[in-house]
Amino acid sequence: MTQITDHLANIRARVADAAARAGRSDDVLVLAVSKMQPAESVREAFAAGQRHFGESYVQEAVAKMLQLADLPIEWHFIGTLQSNKTRAVAEHFAWVHTVDREKLATRLNTHRSPHAPPLNVLIEVNQAGERQKGGVGEADVEALARKVMALPRLSLKGLMCIPPAAAEPGEFFARLRELQTRLAARGLPLNMLSMGMSADFETAIAMGSNCVRIGTAIFGPRPA
Ligand SMILES: *Cc1c(COP(=O)(O)O)cnc(C)c1O
Repeated sequence: MTQITDHLANIRARVADAAARAGRSDDVLVLAVSKMQPAESVREAFAAGQRHFGESYVQEAVAKMLQLADLPIEWHFIGTLQSNKTRAVAEHFAWVHTVDREKLATRLNTHRSPHAPPLNVLIEVNQAGERQKGGVGEADVEALARKVMALPRLSLKGLMCIPPAAAEPGEFFARLRELQTRLAARGLPLNMLSMGMSADFETAIAMGSNCVRIGTAIFGPRPA
């Protein structure tokens, strides 16, 4: 077994254990975050059964996709979304986890080809008012979600968060879960909760995450 194959098997086992401990029988999607990792590593993970990959930098991602065009990979954009990159994101990705304002949603909708399936969208929530980070404030999530729902080339799927680095993540994961429950009761299709990374995905699963974004625990440290 290669190291990546080995790591993936380990992550899958830990995800299954965490879900079982939480008494959950629904699926938890493992998103392999391959930013800064070479195409060869993605190929290795694919050979080990991994199908969903996450990237943060548009240019790097598109170059990698070209090298991997022979593989039926489902690509997720998880980086900071800038409006001048919405065309490339709409053209190359199946999912975006970081929509945080109407302008971005509108532009993604405009650029998404009518021949492709709708672009799957998660709304990034900024729970601690961190100004250096993306994400919409909790109070504004519903309005933005309704705007996304009204755009025909987008398909609203859920919520995403990255807790403040210094904090205990559990309370933030629990809050995102509560927000999801509250908004789902108001008719918003927000089934996917994208939360948890290499260091805290088990906590996130305990709090209801059904999409964990894992980079270093699968691929090792990112090359500088
Ligand atoms: C890089 C990144 C990850 C993966 O982080 P690891 O700690 O390597 O697992 C997850 N989510 C986002 C948004 C990222 O930018």
